[in-house]
Amino acid sequence: MNKNEEYTVTIEDIGSEGEGIGHIDGITCFVKDTVVKDEVKVKIIKVKKNYVYGRLMEIITPSPYRVEAVCPKAKSCGGCTFMHMSYERQLEYKKNKVISCLERIGGIKDAGSLVEDIYGMDEPYNYRNKMQFPVGVDKDGNIKIGFYAGRTHSIIDIDECATGHKINTFIIKNLRAWISEAYKKDKQFVYNEELHKGLVRHIVTRVGFSTGELSVCLVINGEKLSRDKALDDRLRSELISALCDAVREYNEGLSRDDSEIKLSNVSININKEKTNKILGDKNITIYGENYITDYIGDVRFNVSPQSFFQVNPMQTKVLYDKALSYADLTGNEVVWDMYCGIGTISLFLAQKAKKVYGVEIVPQAIDDAKKNALLNNLSNTEFYCGKAEELAPKLYKNEGIKPDVIVVDPPRKGCDIALLDTIDNMSPKRLVYVSCDPATLARDIKYLSEKGFEVKKVAVVDQFCHSVHVESCVLLERVSN
Ligand code: SAH
Repeated sequence: MNKNEEYTVTIEDIGSEGEGIGHIDGITCFVKDTVVKDEVKVKIIKVKKNYVYGRLMEIITPSPYRVEAVCPKAKSCGGCTFMHMSYERQLEYKKNKVISCLERIGGIKDAGSLVEDIYGMDEPYNYRNKMQFPVGVDKDGNIKIGFYAGRTHSIIDIDECATGHKINTFIIKNLRAWISEAYKKDKQFVYNEELHKGLVRHIVTRVGFSTGELSVCLVINGEKLSRDKALDDRLRSELISALCDAVREYNEGLSRDDSEIKLSNVSININKEKTNKILGDKNITIYGENYITDYIGDVRFNVSPQSFFQVNPMQTKVLYDKALSYADLTGNEVVWDMYCGIGTISLFLAQKAKKVYGVEIVPQAIDDAKKNALLNNLSNTEFYCGKAEELAPKLYKNEGIKPDVIVVDPPRKGCDIALLDTIDNMSPKRLVYVSCDPATLARDIKYLSEKGFEVKKVAVVDQFCHSVHVESCVLLERVSN
């Protein structure tokens, strides 16, 4: 098989990155933007020893699972891999992905029988509370605000995003006009990633879905909007007024089901590093408070621009309710919440536990966690800053803190072995593992099952509709030593 040749392929499966998989003369062929049962014409773009990559040229017979993508930019934008697949089918894919990881990597037989259900959204659009838009300039000098194309850093310009809160449409429109004006006067106003020159890099927005509080952060490669004090002041007030206008325009067109937005926080974030990390360490509030408030269930959270907060508030409630029901608390338990962030799960659990200890590596998140505990009068919590794998053994050995229930919610790379060993030594009654990557989840489960733990129940919650990402919550119990 050679490059540039064309073939007809029927898609039989979807891979872990969302790519369609078919066969040509027995050779595996990966095709982006396809759905199981699509019959497609592909052009071969890469030939490897045991497989090839094909570019989708034409859909000959569309799959019954194929739908028209709601967003016209879905194909080029790196955000939504599955917008051309029916939502029911997306959920099925995600559930199967978890089952297959648990069986293949975790060594669990018939994992499907342990999976309770996949919890999807009734309305899987406009669910994200946080958006991060890179800003750039195209070759004709037009301002681009949008998302990176899949696997690259070229910016796909967008006017609206079907997964974000609708206020973002107004923010993009008004900030595009403001940035375009400033760019006309100063060609250094917009960041050029390749040259690591220019100023405005990203727009980061966050909305408290239950409070309507909006935070907007402009990330710049510099200390100020201009070295000239008068111009810096003017640009700041123009930015604030463009955002106030965006909020007013949004509120004026509000339908009866939506709630009003209020601008609560505008900040400038300084990021002068040549890095993929979006936010720098320094954040200067130029309008309002330096945080927004939101609720998950009855628990209130203050969230500062730099803190991690779950992006899908509706589904987070579903996920945390699951974690809480798996923890099965009666009020007498000591609970550890490892990788606790701003204490979201900890405070949720603290409502039903005797004591909750949270551990998290980011100091600012721990500050937020402590403040959030006070805010909710949950005095049965204590938060420690450090690596879970280092602090857990210390809390256990030096302080003699022995948990009845442990909750872990690690980043994608999963838990450190030292933490899993400490969990094993402490033998909690129950371990609740919340995971955003089923492959590392399954790897850690395999390790724990060799130590005598057994998976009892699994729930899959769709937090990231239209993307390949999947969140799950697993209950483990020790069955032997
Ligand atoms: N449970 C929280 C946060 C989960 S995200 C919530 O639901 O909101 C994972 C968290 O783990 C992040 O806050 C990250 O900063 C933290 N983290 C990453 N590595 C860590 C480590 N080695 N030890 C402790 N926390 C870590």
